[in-house]
Amino acid sequence: MTLVRCRECGREVSDTATECPHCGAKLQSGSQRRDSEPMPESYLIWGIVTTVCCCLPFGIVSIVYASKVEDYWRQGLQDMAYEAAAKAKKFAIIGAVAAPLVGIILFIVASMIIGDMGIIQEILEEIND
Ligand SMILES: [Zn+2]
Repeated sequence: MTLVRCRECGREVSDTATECPHCGAKLQSGSQRRDSEPMPESYLIWGIVTTVCCCLPFGIVSIVYASKVEDYWRQGLQDMAYEAAAKAKKFAIIGAVAAPLVGIILFIVASMIIGDMGIIQEILEEIND
């Protein structure tokens, strides 16, 4: 948190404040404030879809970021809202892409384990002979 000067009364106020505590003037928190822009898409639905259908860890991360988008937006932290939205999107995509890969890896690992068991069985049979 840094201090900025109120444009109305000139006194120092926190740059996170939405209005001046001294004179009550509405503050624009630096250059971050862009009132004309809409709230970014949070991709929350994609996070949920990713969590339910495919890749739980990435989906949860995506949901966490998606839920932050609205929080940041309400606090006037547009840049952080956009950043959270971008991360929510990224993790939802990673989750969606990772799901089939995880499936393939699990299949390979499973077949390796089964294969290993076959080898172990062969060794045991060798020993018993
Ligand atoms: Zn003021």
